[in-house]
Amino acid sequence: MHEKCGVVGIALQDRDAARPLYYSLYALQHRGQESAGIVTHDGFQQHSHVEMELVGDAFGPGDIESLNGTVGIGHVRYPTAGSVDSCCAQPFSVSFKSGSLGLSHNGNLVNAREIRDELAGQGHAFTSDGDTEVIAHDLARNLLEEDLVRAVKRTMSRIHGSYSLTIMHDDTVLGLRDPEGNRPLCIGKLEDGYVIASESAAIDTLDGELVRDVKPGELVVLHSDGTGFDTYQLIDREHAAHCFFEHVYFARPDSVIDGELVYEVRRNLGRKLWAESGVDTDVVMPVPDSGRSFASGYAEAAQDEGADVEFAEGLMKNRYVGRTFIMPTQDERERAVRLKLNPIKSTVAGKTVTLIDDSIVRGTTSTQLIQLLYESGAEEVHMRVGSPPIVAPCYMGIDMATREELIASDRSVEEIRDEIQADSLAYISREAIADALGKASADLCMACVTGQYPYDIDGEETDREVDRPTIAGEASAAADD
Ligand code: 5GP
Ligand code: MG
Repeated sequence: MHEKCGVVGIALQDRDAARPLYYSLYALQHRGQESAGIVTHDGFQQHSHVEMELVGDAFGPGDIESLNGTVGIGHVRYPTAGSVDSCCAQPFSVSFKSGSLGLSHNGNLVNAREIRDELAGQGHAFTSDGDTEVIAHDLARNLLEEDLVRAVKRTMSRIHGSYSLTIMHDDTVLGLRDPEGNRPLCIGKLEDGYVIASESAAIDTLDGELVRDVKPGELVVLHSDGTGFDTYQLIDREHAAHCFFEHVYFARPDSVIDGELVYEVRRNLGRKLWAESGVDTDVVMPVPDSGRSFASGYAEAAQDEGADVEFAEGLMKNRYVGRTFIMPTQDERERAVRLKLNPIKSTVAGKTVTLIDDSIVRGTTSTQLIQLLYESGAEEVHMRVGSPPIVAPCYMGIDMATREELIASDRSVEEIRDEIQADSLAYISREAIADALGKASADLCMACVTGQYPYDIDGEETDREVDRPTIAGEASAAADD
């Protein structure tokens, strides 16, 4: 299961948390449209509301009011291809002997099966086949023996993969980021409390201030009375594995992730794209919305160098069509591109065009759009792409398609150019990505463009010393601080 989701956790001084949680889920809706949920705690018990809906449809007025308590967590879940599975909607909440737990998870464990088998052998009953439930059970078991921080540390030493979590244990809200910092997570300060969220845009929505990113391997514990938070660096690794694709495609442009404003990163990548492979055309046109910041940076850099190009929004987007990649068949995906994007013919007729998108995954979007632009009278269409060719699948939380479906997995750039029928095609370099993010490539996860994974995944290669937990026998060692 590959899920890219949005998570949030809030502790307030004396106001119910449900409404600000609801607003922050709205701010994170782009991270998941399949389900939305909130779990709060009123000091005595949990209150939960989870629906297989968009945030706006999931909560009626009465629902928010019934979610009592000044602390809570929330989740939006990304649709995964095929199955629409209400068992996996989150937050996951459950009561154990060790207290109540709620979990919101963004990411994907690569060893969930092993832990699950072990726990099942010890009598733990599972209601879903999601990895979040595995984390919940493991943590619940550890909480029987240890305090909260040690219990989390022990669970962390057993799970392998990507996870940004907000957790609620009774009325304590926690934020936890995996030791590689694969998915984003940040801390914000509100006038009357604190928030932990996938993206800083959620904090902005609440009129809060971004305090900082949660560090890889760090646990954040919000004070239940909303007056502060404590942090514990539970696992230290030499290198992070921040997902570059968050910056390129997934996150909101107005979010700051690991210290970088996403919008600026994308514009900067657009400028680099011009420097690396600029082509002089009459117009530069973004594929909306994901190509927009790249195209504006690209056009600006071209104009700085005196090129006579016009930045044109020549493709109009129907905002009521969902994301095309979840369409089950190729035929439907092609139809969906045309439902979603329509050219303004006068901006392209008789012109040479540079079309800019953040990425090419299967190649459906670019093939369809290039054909549409020709049908609308474009003389030439040159494609420029803000990420390197995607050659390998993601196991860490971005549901990107299988190797067979990835157009670049077995084709050269020239072969792809021929396939999508562009006059020229160029992708950004890997070096430019690291440069634009201001990070060493050793601290980035670029597995989808290199095929080298920062985690130990069966059947895949890794480019680093990976510390994969062995499930049996290391739990007690891990509890030593
Ligand atoms: P393609 O049509 O080549 O399969 O996909 C490329 C388009 O999908 C680009 O416009 C890009 O913005 C978008 N995209 C890239 N990665 C993802 C992803 O993981 N999920 C979804 N829904 N869209 C993606
Ligand atoms: Mg797009």
